[in-house]
Amino acid sequence: MRKTIVIGIDGACWEYIKPLLEEDKLPNIKRMMDSGSYGILESVLPPISPVAWSSVITGTNAGKHGIFGWKKPKRNESSEAVDSTMRKVAPFWKYLNEEGLRVGIFNIPLTYPPEDIDGYIVPGFEVPANCKDAVYPQDLSAIVKKKYGDFLNNLPLDLLLSQKAIEMGVESYFQKYCFSEEMRTHLALDLAPECDVILFNYMITDHLNHQVRDFDAITRAYRFVDEMVGTWLKRFPDENYILMSDHGSTRIKGIVNLNQLFFNEGLLQLRKRQIDSLSKDEVNKMLHLILHNRGLRPNILEKVVRRIYLLYLYLISEKHRVNRLRKLRQAAPKEVNCFLYLDKIDYEKTIVHVNTDDGFIFLNKQEMNEKRYNQLVQKLMSIKDPFSGDPLFSFIRKKEAFFKGNQVKLAPELYGHFWESTCFIKTSLNFSAFKLETPYRQTGLYRDFDTCGSHQRDGIYIVFGPDLKKSSGKKGKRYSLLDVTPTVLYLQKVGIPENFDGKIMRDALAPEYVRCNSVEYITSVDYAPRAGKSEIKFDDKQRIIEKLKILGYID
Ligand SMILES: [Zn+2]
Repeated sequence: MRKTIVIGIDGACWEYIKPLLEEDKLPNIKRMMDSGSYGILESVLPPISPVAWSSVITGTNAGKHGIFGWKKPKRNESSEAVDSTMRKVAPFWKYLNEEGLRVGIFNIPLTYPPEDIDGYIVPGFEVPANCKDAVYPQDLSAIVKKKYGDFLNNLPLDLLLSQKAIEMGVESYFQKYCFSEEMRTHLALDLAPECDVILFNYMITDHLNHQVRDFDAITRAYRFVDEMVGTWLKRFPDENYILMSDHGSTRIKGIVNLNQLFFNEGLLQLRKRQIDSLSKDEVNKMLHLILHNRGLRPNILEKVVRRIYLLYLYLISEKHRVNRLRKLRQAAPKEVNCFLYLDKIDYEKTIVHVNTDDGFIFLNKQEMNEKRYNQLVQKLMSIKDPFSGDPLFSFIRKKEAFFKGNQVKLAPELYGHFWESTCFIKTSLNFSAFKLETPYRQTGLYRDFDTCGSHQRDGIYIVFGPDLKKSSGKKGKRYSLLDVTPTVLYLQKVGIPENFDGKIMRDALAPEYVRCNSVEYITSVDYAPRAGKSEIKFDDKQRIIEKLKILGYID
């Protein structure tokens, strides 16, 4: 039986790829399209990596696998980062392993901590630095280090957290990222002969789209991935390939602060805070804003000025401190008024609020009748994308309209699809509703890196290989991301578990293959969620949250 090699190009979309194809800049991808077939692969909701890849891994919608975003949705409070132990459905490789087939999973987001597999797992975004369980099997780690160097714990993204990265600039960042992806490719290629199914994801295309202003860098990322695809084809020319993306991409014009918009519409209420209730950290932030407003760059001098002033403030009497703080507040730029309300939503009086950036909306007043609910949806739908003038949301529905399964209870009540707008969503209250620049940009730290891109729902698929359809350049049917996993199992002649939500991509398969192989359905296995295996400690979780923020994935 042939191998099935699934290659993810994270965030790839036809809008980005087409012009490059026309200029003949993606020769390997073009060859696959010409001799195979291709089309649109519609992502899941919300169309973001952790949800989408968990759907590929499990073959199910988020209502079953329980991953709704980068953060666990929690009402009224900030929530923790998710990891693979929170996934509630068996991964697809269990079914392949049961039939004696080996599977290699490389670079797939949210596969850390890796779990037992007959094969290999080299997790993708995000793995804590220097952890012992960075790969499965664990002894692979030493071999990897010896042969390929210490890249597993050195994602280029780590560099972004340091001052050095800021100085480094896009070019150097791009080179380092390519190097890391290339090493991962070589590792996977070397292990692939032992595997029947390989799932590999190139993340560089998505990360650059999010972070980098210059579109040329994104173009180069696609060309780099095409080169890597060429390496796969050269090494394994006669296998079955599925090239796919977990969602599409788009460039954004600005950022919308959703809670602020809800506040403007009277749907969210804030508790006014007394100046003396500010924490030291908040006073520090206010000082930072004042100094920045006066043109002081965030450097050591600025830090020293803030430290000394803070020390002074907390040495003087409380009465004097309150007076000083009042004066500071008057001297502070306008943003401080919002910032003073930070985390101070009055939930009792609030109708809707968000605390993740994926489109999920908490409905605080759930007991509303249908008429009031419809009025609310109408009001939310009337919110305009400030940059295009079109409605910000393409649709808003109750979660049950999109998600099915016993994990639906975890999700906030509403889902509003803003991904077709020209904006990205932020949820905090510390900057004004519409703006082109992120808080990172404001600090002046990030010269070339910024939140410039976001996602759209439509991704891509290209199939190529002896058991796949040859459409001679004609565009194929539209499929769902959920259809990829059953197709992989079918190509390996393994039954489709009954809990799967997708179908086989029948029109993308060679007619002879479909004629000779009937589809079998099997009972899905019970899956005991893994507990206590994660090495992610509190500090690591904080670091992961920091990285997600820098990427513009969350706020
Ligand atoms: Zn993605």
